Amino acid sequence: MNEHDSERIAGLLESRGYRSAPTPEEADLVVLQTCAIRESADNRLYGALGALKRSKTERPQLRIAVGGCLAQKDGQGVLERAPWVDAAFGTFAVAELPGLLDRRERTGAAASDFRERAEVYPSALPARRARPFQAWVAVSVGCDNACTFCIVPRVRGGQVSRPMDDILSEIRALVADGVVEVCLLGQNVNTYGRDREGRPMFAGLLRSLDGIEGLRRARFTSPHPHDFTADVMEAMAGSAVVCEHIHFPLQSGSDPVLRRMRRSYGAGRYMGLLGRIREAVPGIAVSTDVIVGFPGETEEDFGRTLGVVEEARFDSAFTFRYSVREGTPAATMPDQVPAEVVAERFARLVDLQERISLERNREMVGRSVEVLIEGPSKKDPRRVAGRTRTNKLVHLTAGGSPAGRLVEVVVTGAHPHHLDGRPGGRIG
Ligand code: SF4
Repeated sequence: MNEHDSERIAGLLESRGYRSAPTPEEADLVVLQTCAIRESADNRLYGALGALKRSKTERPQLRIAVGGCLAQKDGQGVLERAPWVDAAFGTFAVAELPGLLDRRERTGAAASDFRERAEVYPSALPARRARPFQAWVAVSVGCDNACTFCIVPRVRGGQVSRPMDDILSEIRALVADGVVEVCLLGQNVNTYGRDREGRPMFAGLLRSLDGIEGLRRARFTSPHPHDFTADVMEAMAGSAVVCEHIHFPLQSGSDPVLRRMRRSYGAGRYMGLLGRIREAVPGIAVSTDVIVGFPGETEEDFGRTLGVVEEARFDSAFTFRYSVREGTPAATMPDQVPAEVVAERFARLVDLQERISLERNREMVGRSVEVLIEGPSKKDPRRVAGRTRTNKLVHLTAGGSPAGRLVEVVVTGAHPHHLDGRPGGRIG
């Protein structure tokens, strides 16, 4: 969601005549778009602001703006800690940035906006997409859940869903502009529509995507296991554009820990749902999130997580070391796990998942898959990289495969985090 907001900020500034500067040293304006998910984000923000203070001494015309979740959380505190900041704005005030910069010039004083609700749905703003053929599309913002480790409800507020017609019109316009793949974004996509009259359903939204000519792929993130319905599974199974990949956050394999996290499901229910999803969509790849070292996590609890990870055989996992987030209920829970214990458990989990990811990827060798080419490979510029419908990263020899093209690829090698392949033909 934050990356999507960054694209909106870039698009908004470009529509006001700004152009992207080649380096921060040449920029007239630097916008820091912040994240509040992890504690380290605080240190990084104030570290970056310290460096910018020095630049500003040399170039007093430099303007500095701070936005995002950390700005929403700290509010005026950002300007108190870094009085050389010119504009600060929260998650609901993205659209106000140009106005704040104008106000700063008029008054000579820092301008800020930390409103608690957006008046304009962010999608009404222009966006500068990272790739012309892929786009994020927000279906809702905010979250009505209260997971005890999460700062999102505090910095993004309760769920506000967008009218389905708006979403579909935006996707049609994106496709007309060359987009072939969209990723629907929401903190909890499964509850999409609950807050709207007529209660449109996420499954209905997925079904509507097939009617959009030219759209080749659709993904979504993230679904909360608690709200995952059979209807969504059926919609995924019956759709030609919805990809065979799901990000399905586990967080922990221990029921007592899940209860303290306030996740509203247990490991048994999670595994049951996973089985049903795999039955409904054969060959679906599954990625997950796991937090290690949540307060009170015992060796036994962690053993349960390892057991579930072993049994679930995820294709990949985002693994996180729990760190205290001020302002969340978990921050004041007793029995915080010592950092060295968390680090040791984290290493064991990563080892296990790397082995499973490699095994899963090895199953792909020799198969022919559809790959959407994303651009030059970061590892080897002589090769290109793209993603399968199952969201696996593939590196292959370029052979006439420009970014944005769908090609058929034969998988020739497997690694824990990517596949090797050779082109096997053009699909579209
Ligand atoms: S569902 Fe996701 S966004 Fe909402 S509180 Fe839980 S972790 Fe945070």
